Amino acid sequence: MTLPRLEDLTDLGPGTRVLVRLDLNVPVKDGRVLDATRVEAALPTLEWLREREVVIAACSHLGKAKGAPDPRFSLEPVAGVLADLLGAPVRFVEDCVDGPVAEALALAPNGGVVLLENLRFHPGEKGNDPAFASELAAPFSHYVNDAFGTAHRAHASVEAVPRLFEPGRRAAGRLMASELEALGRVVHDPEQPFVAVVGGAKVSTKTGPLRTMVERARTVLVGGGMANTFLLAQGHEVGRSLVEPDMVETAREVMALAREHGTALVIPEDLVVTDSIDAPGRVEIVPADAVPADLMAVDIGPATIARFREALGGARTVFWNGPMGVFEVERFAAGTVAVAEAMAACPGFTVVGGGESVMAVHRAGVADRIDHVSTGGGASLALVSGETLPALAALEEGR
Ligand code: ADP
Ligand code: MG
Repeated sequence: MTLPRLEDLTDLGPGTRVLVRLDLNVPVKDGRVLDATRVEAALPTLEWLREREVVIAACSHLGKAKGAPDPRFSLEPVAGVLADLLGAPVRFVEDCVDGPVAEALALAPNGGVVLLENLRFHPGEKGNDPAFASELAAPFSHYVNDAFGTAHRAHASVEAVPRLFEPGRRAAGRLMASELEALGRVVHDPEQPFVAVVGGAKVSTKTGPLRTMVERARTVLVGGGMANTFLLAQGHEVGRSLVEPDMVETAREVMALAREHGTALVIPEDLVVTDSIDAPGRVEIVPADAVPADLMAVDIGPATIARFREALGGARTVFWNGPMGVFEVERFAAGTVAVAEAMAACPGFTVVGGGESVMAVHRAGVADRIDHVSTGGGASLALVSGETLPALAALEEGR
């Protein structure tokens, strides 16, 4: 089965009721939306549906709601932002099931949008509960999932719900389609030379992407905290650096896999080290095999930056996940910013995925010069790792 798209929907017309699962999990503080990127990303699908004059009920989770209503995690502030971006009224509905939904749908004009309250105010959402899924799906004849960021979770609104809709009545939205296309191109059909950059805090959370990249790319550049574990695996001391001794074996396996595939696995040759992240007294550049016992590595050094820049300059495909250092601290952001800029300058097809890496690309001001900036952190890594994403399987398989 292939993934059904918006164009595959049948019997859509004025007044058709469509449940649209979005990822509107935006940061909210004191009732204000701090970053509307995810709301903007939902617009192409909503506009496509509005042109067909259907009645749209948008739904999402937000924050760490624990299966009960919690005003801190209400989606209400998002309704205003969505209305402004759409240039149309968006009625907020104080629950995602039952009477309030029926009432709002009865009042909605053709082409109208209502926004349902946080799905995670019900325990059945995370529990993938069939009874909750039936309640959520009941008022609708069609279902669209555009919540790429949640595609790796088997939650009711993305797993049990699509299985309640027949073929022609369920589809992936525009954002989902573009994410799959860009990430799929990197994993399945990368133009060579393909250069991957993998960083971030730990090896343990990135073993899937590391293996995939070592198998597919010609060069894999390793930075960030995870590089310390590779250095340890090569027999170097890493002082007080963040390191995972129980991942040394995994790092060795990744190095062996690289040899097997003829992939150049490039570990930092120099590092920026400090005595403290929050209140740095000493900050030095040292060879990667000479980290002082009382200091910790917090960024890649200038020689490593030059080496990474050179590799990225000649790439036809680039995938990047994970910052090169503690980029949240300006002084330790040089490696991460250099990778972001080298990617922006690279004429090849460039993709960034991950939570902090995407943040770094925005902070470096180069997001619009990168071909695809993935909106899904965990979902993009799961996809790249070759895992089956429950939401995609449900859309494809149906009942
Ligand atoms: P992503 O969200 O892009 O997948 P991760 O969550 O794996 O990335 O890692 C991001 C975090 O890693 C950042 O908050 C950064 O501060 C931290 N980090 C990067 N390098 C180091 C390092 N050398 N020591 C400690 N933390 C690091
Ligand atoms: Mg992260």
